[in-house]
Amino acid sequence: MKSADYWRGRFSILADAAHRDTGSYINDLETMYRNAERTVQADLERWYGRFATNNGISLTDARKMLTTGQMDEFRWTVDQYIKIGEQANLSPEWLKKLENASARFHVSRLETIQLQIQQQMELLYGGQLDGLDGLLKDVVSNGYTRTAFEIQKGLGLGWDITALNQRKLETLLSRPWTADGKTFRDRCWENKANLVSGVQSHLTQGLLRGDGLQKITDNIKKEFGVSRYKAGRLAHTETTYFNAQASRETYKDLGIEQIEILETLDRHTCDLCGGLDGTVIPLAQYEPGVTVPPFHPNCRGTTCPHYADMKGERAARNADGEVYYVSADTTYQKWFETFVKGGDKSGLTAATAKAIITKGKATTPKEAEADAAQYAQQVKLRGVTNMDSLNEMTGTLDHLYQKYPQLNRLKEIQVKVNRKGSTMASANFQGLYPRSKFMNNPVTETANCFGDRWRPRLEKALESWNQHIDRLIQSGAPKADITKGKKVIQQIQEMLKFPRHNVIYAGKEVQCTITHEFGHVLADQLCGQINHRMANPAFAYTADNVLWKKCQLIDSVYQKAISSGDIYSISMYGASNSHEFFAECFTIYDMGEEQLPDYIVEMFKEVLEP
Ligand SMILES: [Zn+2]
Ligand SMILES: [Zn+2]
Repeated sequence: MKSADYWRGRFSILADAAHRDTGSYINDLETMYRNAERTVQADLERWYGRFATNNGISLTDARKMLTTGQMDEFRWTVDQYIKIGEQANLSPEWLKKLENASARFHVSRLETIQLQIQQQMELLYGGQLDGLDGLLKDVVSNGYTRTAFEIQKGLGLGWDITALNQRKLETLLSRPWTADGKTFRDRCWENKANLVSGVQSHLTQGLLRGDGLQKITDNIKKEFGVSRYKAGRLAHTETTYFNAQASRETYKDLGIEQIEILETLDRHTCDLCGGLDGTVIPLAQYEPGVTVPPFHPNCRGTTCPHYADMKGERAARNADGEVYYVSADTTYQKWFETFVKGGDKSGLTAATAKAIITKGKATTPKEAEADAAQYAQQVKLRGVTNMDSLNEMTGTLDHLYQKYPQLNRLKEIQVKVNRKGSTMASANFQGLYPRSKFMNNPVTETANCFGDRWRPRLEKALESWNQHIDRLIQSGAPKADITKGKKVIQQIQEMLKFPRHNVIYAGKEVQCTITHEFGHVLADQLCGQINHRMANPAFAYTADNVLWKKCQLIDSVYQKAISSGDIYSISMYGASNSHEFFAECFTIYDMGEEQLPDYIVEMFKEVLEP
C-alpha cells in the first residue's frame, strides 16, 4: 500500500493543476476587463468632448435633454447595441431596457453615457459567465476522472468507470452551496451589478463635484480593479468547491471510506486553515464548504484518500466488471482510453478480487519484522534484502489471517538460509520458513515452475533420451540398459502431461508461495493432517472423530483427482502426495485465478468449516 505521503503528494499536484487552469482563465478575464475598461474610457472621452464647455461639464448640463438630431444618432447607436446584444446572448432584461430607451422621446445626455457604460458591462459579464461556466464544467469532469486515475494508479488496480454525464454535470453546477443560497452564476451577476452601480455613481458624483475627466476615469479604473479581483477570487473558490464535489463522486464510486484534508499544497499553503491539514473524516461527513475545503473565499485546500483505509481489495469490490493490475508508470491518457472509454484490455493481467492483497509498506527488514509480529511470537527475517518480497509476504499474511480467522498465531516466522536443492519455503502448524535465496530472487527462483520454462526443458530431455536409446540399440547395448532408458522416457512423458511444476502466477511469486505454505498450516492446525495430535489435540484415529474424517476426505479427493486426470490441471508438485495436493489446491482456491473442480471446492468448504 502506498504511504500517506504518496497520496498527499499526488492529490496536492492534482489540486494545483486545477488552479493552474483557473489561473489561465483569470488571465483571459483580465484581457476582457482591460478591453471593457478601455472602451468605457473612450466612450466617456467622446461624450465629454461633445458636451463639455471650457469648465468641463456640470451635472445640470449633463442632465439636459438631447436635441432632435442627437436623438436620431442616439437611436441608431441603441439599435446597434441591441444587435450586438442579441448576438452575444445578453440578458432579456437588458435588451428590453435598450428597446425602451430607443422608443423614448426624451433622453438626457447623462443617460446616453450611462447606457453606453452598462452595455460594456453586460458584454463583459456575458463573456465572464461563459468562461467561468466552461472552466467549472472542466473542473468537475476532469476532477472526476483525474481523481479516479490517481486512486487506481495508487492502488495498482484498474477497472472500468463511467465519466460523469452532461446531466450530472449540470446538476452539480447549478446547486448553490453557500448559506445565502447563491450559485456562482448569481455571484457573477452580483459582481456585475456592483460594477455597474459603482461606475455610475463615480460618474454622477464626479459631475456633481465638478471633477475633471481624468479624476472620474481614475475612479472608474479603481472600480474595475476591485471587480476584477473579486472575479478572480470567485473563480478560485468555485474551483476548490467543484473540485471537491467531483472528488466526492469519485470517492463514493470507488469505495473510499475515509479522506484526509490537505491544506498544504505543492505551491500554496492556505494560511487561514493550515491548522486543519491532516484532519481525517469519514466520507459520510464530507461536505465541501462545511467539513472540507473551501472554508473561505480563495481557499485552495483539497482532500486525498486516507491511506489507512485504502485497502485495494475493498476498493476493488466496488468494481462492476473485471479488475486489472495497473502499472505505476501508466499515463493518464492510456488509462483514460482503457478504463473510461472501455478500451481493449487484452494486454493487462486480470486481478481477481479474492486474490488482491494489500502489500506491506516496510522500508527495512526490521520494519517488516514488526509488521509480521502480529502473526507470530517470534520473527527473524535475516539475510533478506528484497523489501518487495517482505512486503508481499506480510501483505499475504494479513490477507490470510483476515480471511481465515480460525488460524492460530504462529510460534515463529523465520527466513532460513538456502542450502543447495532446498525448497522455496516450508511450514508446519507452528512456523513459516521462507528461504533467503527465494525471497531475494523470487522471479528467477520460480522461473522453472511455469509451463513456458518447464515444458521446453522436459521436451529437450525427452529428445536426447530418445537419441540415446537409438544409439544404445544400434551399438547392441545390453537389454537391461535399454529397458532402464525406456523407463526414464516414460517418466518424462508422464511429467509432460503437467502444464506446470508448481502453482505460481507471474508477478505473485511470493504470494503464491506463502499461500501454499499456509495451506499446510491450515490443514495441520485445523485437522492435524501431518502432525496429528501435536498440531490439533482433538485429533484421533477413530471413525467418529471429525478431524480424522476430514483427513480421510482429503486423501480420497486426492485419489479422485489422480484417477480422473484432474491432477494435471493442478500441478506436478501437487501430485506428489495428499499434503502437497492440498497446499497446491489451496493456492488456487484462495487466489481465485482459476476454477477448481467442484468436488475439490467442496473439500475446502468441509475442511475449513469451524
Ligand atoms: Zn483554506
Ligand atoms: Zn508444500
